[in-house]
Amino acid sequence: MRSFPKKFKLLIIEEKWQQNWEQLGIYVFNREDSRPAFTIDTPPPYPSGNFHMGNVLNWTYIDVLARFKRMRGFSVLFPQGWDCHGLPTEVKTEEIHKIKKTDVPPQEFVRLCKQVINKYIAIMKKAIIRLGCSVDWTTEYKTMDSTYWKNTQLSFIQLHKKGLIYKGTHPISWCTSCETAIADAEVEHEQKQGTLHYIKFKLEDDTHLTIATTRPELLPACVTVAVHPQDSRYKKFIGKKINVPIANRPVKIISERSVDPKFGTGVLMICTYGDKADVKAVSTLKLPAIILIDDKGNMNENAGKYAGLTIKQAKKAVVADLEEKGLLEKTESLSQEVGKCWRCKNPIEILEHEQWFMKTRVFTELVKQKTLDVIWYPDYMKKRMIDWADSLDWDWVISRQRIFATPIPVWYCKQCQETLIAEPDWVPIDPRNQSPKKSVCSKCGSIEFIPETDVLDTWFDSSITCAVHAGWPDKPDWHKLFPADVHPSGYDIIRTWAYYLMVRGLALFDEKPYKSVLINGMVLGTDGRKMSKSLGNFVSTPEVFTKYGADAPRQWATGGGATGSDIPFRWEDVEYAWRFLRKLWNASKFAAMHLEDYDPNTKTPKLELIDRWLISKMEQVTEQVTEAMESCQFNVATDKIRQFTWHSFCDNYLEAVKHRLYQPETYGDEKREAAQYTLYNIIYRILQLLAPISPHITEELYQIMYFDEKQHQSVHNSEWPIVNNELVDTETEKHGDLIVAVMGEIRRDKSENKKPLNVQIQKLTVSSEDSNILNVLCQAEEDLAGTCKIEKLEVKVAPSKGREVQGYPSVRLVVEY
Ligand SMILES: [Zn+2]
Ligand SMILES: [Zn+2]
Repeated sequence: MRSFPKKFKLLIIEEKWQQNWEQLGIYVFNREDSRPAFTIDTPPPYPSGNFHMGNVLNWTYIDVLARFKRMRGFSVLFPQGWDCHGLPTEVKTEEIHKIKKTDVPPQEFVRLCKQVINKYIAIMKKAIIRLGCSVDWTTEYKTMDSTYWKNTQLSFIQLHKKGLIYKGTHPISWCTSCETAIADAEVEHEQKQGTLHYIKFKLEDDTHLTIATTRPELLPACVTVAVHPQDSRYKKFIGKKINVPIANRPVKIISERSVDPKFGTGVLMICTYGDKADVKAVSTLKLPAIILIDDKGNMNENAGKYAGLTIKQAKKAVVADLEEKGLLEKTESLSQEVGKCWRCKNPIEILEHEQWFMKTRVFTELVKQKTLDVIWYPDYMKKRMIDWADSLDWDWVISRQRIFATPIPVWYCKQCQETLIAEPDWVPIDPRNQSPKKSVCSKCGSIEFIPETDVLDTWFDSSITCAVHAGWPDKPDWHKLFPADVHPSGYDIIRTWAYYLMVRGLALFDEKPYKSVLINGMVLGTDGRKMSKSLGNFVSTPEVFTKYGADAPRQWATGGGATGSDIPFRWEDVEYAWRFLRKLWNASKFAAMHLEDYDPNTKTPKLELIDRWLISKMEQVTEQVTEAMESCQFNVATDKIRQFTWHSFCDNYLEAVKHRLYQPETYGDEKREAAQYTLYNIIYRILQLLAPISPHITEELYQIMYFDEKQHQSVHNSEWPIVNNELVDTETEKHGDLIVAVMGEIRRDKSENKKPLNVQIQKLTVSSEDSNILNVLCQAEEDLAGTCKIEKLEVKVAPSKGREVQGYPSVRLVVEY
């Protein structure tokens, strides 16, 4: 046993172990290890430069599971990468350098983006280490590195070979502010107040129908007018011509089942494109498309006199013209759902564009089937994945009109426009400044090529991590580590991360990419509302780390609520955890003082009832914690460990054996040894059970008290305890509970009578009509008397008299001081 430091300085202990663990390399994954592997698909975060409390929750879950599995005998792969590309980085770089991406050459812009990202990565890496995560840093990777480009580009080439990637002109969601295509998963939906305009469309006989629309500026793109086939008001107009105002051209009135007769007037105009319903109608009815809006969100030449105006200006102008012509009947306000860009919150438009797509809808049934094969923690979260897969109408648009991203490895023949896809051994390659490694067009023999300048969606980088972590494509045995054992993620990104991983795993490798998914909820503010700086309920991670270090907030994360549920940040929870850790520290220090002369290799001494009581409880708790950890119920595990440690061990057991520890001359050496034996084994068990949740303090206490004897390099390399059922004895537990209850009642009596706790009791009389109960008390007579300082203890079978023992209505006691 080593000596205890004088003071409890958790923050210093934590940082010491973070350094030591890294130096010892105890979390480095060894592919040659003969033990079974447990692989974690750590989602590489986008380095925002801010490690918030949501990240603390997420990484604590991952780390607790990693440490638990390591102790359970697995060789754990806990990798860490960074998902660098994408719009947010470009926008941030533009902000910091006060430039537009087009102000500098693309390569220079990429260099600036990398600079920004590397700075942010350093901040986040520091925070992950500060949280005490057992990451294998030898695995660290960045999706912006050419080594990772190779993976992304190779996956593109392979999917193209399989016929799962195509280039096509289709309506797509487009952000006119970010000037790029965006995927369904990047569109956020929001309820917004809009205006419904009732517009007169003239029929050939000069009568009219009224159409209600929120987007009058799209009138020039109206390609047909539709009514429901069963709508008796309009049946007679089906097949007739009607004039589109503003555009002043006739279109046909058609019948269409999807028209809601109750919306507006029940007559609908179909434009290219107001929404997804328009897209569907145009494609099924084979209608022409008139695109009105350009990439920047301005009206184009198809808008006639409105060309050059912004969408907003055009709406105003069109409404003014309609009013002037007397074609605007009325307006009404309307609450409607609007699609917005996830990044800049501007409303999205549906434009037609030539883009690269990955076929995803062909996998929908398979995705749903495999989702059911996966274990979800908690189970109900799988519904989100299934609903999302079902909701997808379009394939995944994977090209982006940006700069800082993985380039699409494609060129076009200048002569005949033939598409040239890179060969697998060409990548990584950047067509924007590298020529294809093949000099002639196979179709026309031309030697001139034009590069593809579009780049890939950042989700195209990050949706192959399960395979990349396993060693694909370079390690021949990568399949041994694929699918990943667990994919951890927030419920808000199931539709992106879990979904894209699944669809790509199935498309590339014909296999689901993960065996289980561990979902964390969101962190709410101190008042239970969404955490936000403007609401004044925001807590920054450095503030928490500086005050309490990592072990206490980790307990807030694991203990704050059920896995998958939203968890408010509560300072009280962190403070409670801190007090718990201090209690454990003090109890261990007290025990260590009494264990100085203890030799754990001597044979087990004869144990007293209260010793056996605690040991039986310890085995039960071990079983409960193991089960909770196996099913990722971290809050249950945390609660069980804390209850046992704080109440059974510290409050009750320690108090009940002090007399034996301090006074062997009165109570005998063997009884002291029995207490030493129990202390030694109980504290070791607590440290092991708590190690995954609060890894620093448990390591420090292990090193001081157990390293010499146990010889594991770290508590985190020790084997998780196996429950010894022979030590579980429910009778003994019941008996011990009774003793503890009587001791508690005596303490209450002392405090109610304003007596000090160590005051002598002249006589204690316990009475009950149940002789079994009294037999139990007699068995523990000595510990009872020693603990409560009782001179004379009388136990009698008689009608109960005196003060009732809480929880035991048939037992009463009389205390005489
Ligand atoms: Zn945007
Ligand atoms: Zn050619």
